[in-house]
Amino acid sequence: MAAGIRLGLVGIGKIARDQHLPAIAADARFDLVATASRHAQLDAVPGYPDIAALIAAGHDLDAVSLCTPPDGRYDQARAAIDAGLHVMLEKPPAATMSEIVDLAERARAKGVTLFATWHSREAGAVEPARQWLAGKRIDAVRIVWKEDIRRWHPGQEWILAAGGFGVFDPGINALSIATLILPEPLLLASARMEVPEGRQAPLKAWLEMRSGAARVTADFDFLQTGPQTWDIEIDTDAGQLRLGLGGSILQLPGEPAQELPNAEYPRLYARFADLVAAGQSDVDLRPFTLVSDAFLLAERTTGAPFSF
Ligand code: NAP
Repeated sequence: MAAGIRLGLVGIGKIARDQHLPAIAADARFDLVATASRHAQLDAVPGYPDIAALIAAGHDLDAVSLCTPPDGRYDQARAAIDAGLHVMLEKPPAATMSEIVDLAERARAKGVTLFATWHSREAGAVEPARQWLAGKRIDAVRIVWKEDIRRWHPGQEWILAAGGFGVFDPGINALSIATLILPEPLLLASARMEVPEGRQAPLKAWLEMRSGAARVTADFDFLQTGPQTWDIEIDTDAGQLRLGLGGSILQLPGEPAQELPNAEYPRLYARFADLVAAGQSDVDLRPFTLVSDAFLLAERTTGAPFSF
């Protein structure tokens, strides 16, 4: 492969602008050569309305990074894999489990890298937490993930449609952290969710899980105004570990809370470059499996109509 990975960026929306573009610009191993988005375009970078036009345009691409909503990403990723391109996926990696399982198989057969990213796993306190928990007895885990949909996802109607995940769009970030740092597998026992009238995805969800002998609860709320909460508390035989601010703050027993530097997206692109160089893929389905199980088991109630 030439000096840089010739990259196409697909779906120029909030996360592409907030995080992907700065991370790509700061990583010498990537050259952003073109974009695909139905409405948006960047200054000084060739843009195309969809991924088929991007692939056909002759930019000698090595890879694409997909920042579109999860529903619809399967066709984009499949087109890229079929064209022999390496693919990086925003979370959640697809709209359904069958889609992401098939993409992983296609990438393997084609010999290209598929990276299903979980950006919250790259938050600064997550790896230190995983290391501290290893070998300890886990007694209980409480996940509280409460944010304001109108503040963080303004006008994103897709998020409450089928395949949009609703409050599991942020909630799956908590599950991506928990599945990584807990020493025992996380299993769903029961779930409840509240779907607003006329929508297909929940604004609130409650999960009961277990990890070994520990009870694990998750409280997801997309209507949280005022202070926002992205916390995981873990009781162990050596005291309580608390992760705050989505994995940025670490508090260990008897120690002051420490905030660790945020480099989630630079770390994701560094990992993508490493995977491409090594000829490997990284598709960890555990967070998605729990969400899929929740949709399978959940007792559903209908909430008040919602508008942005
Ligand atoms: P967004 O602002 O709605 O951007 C997605 C872009 O994809 C749109 O601007 C749109 O651009 C394009 N698109 C293609 N097909 C679409 C469709 N059927 N419906 C809507 N847009 C479509 O969403 P986002 O917040 O960037 O989220 C995208 C993905 O990143 C999601 O999977 C989300 O979970 C993940 N993510 C988001 C955040 C965040 O803070 N927002 C954080 C981490 C991860 P065109 O109209 O130009 O095609």
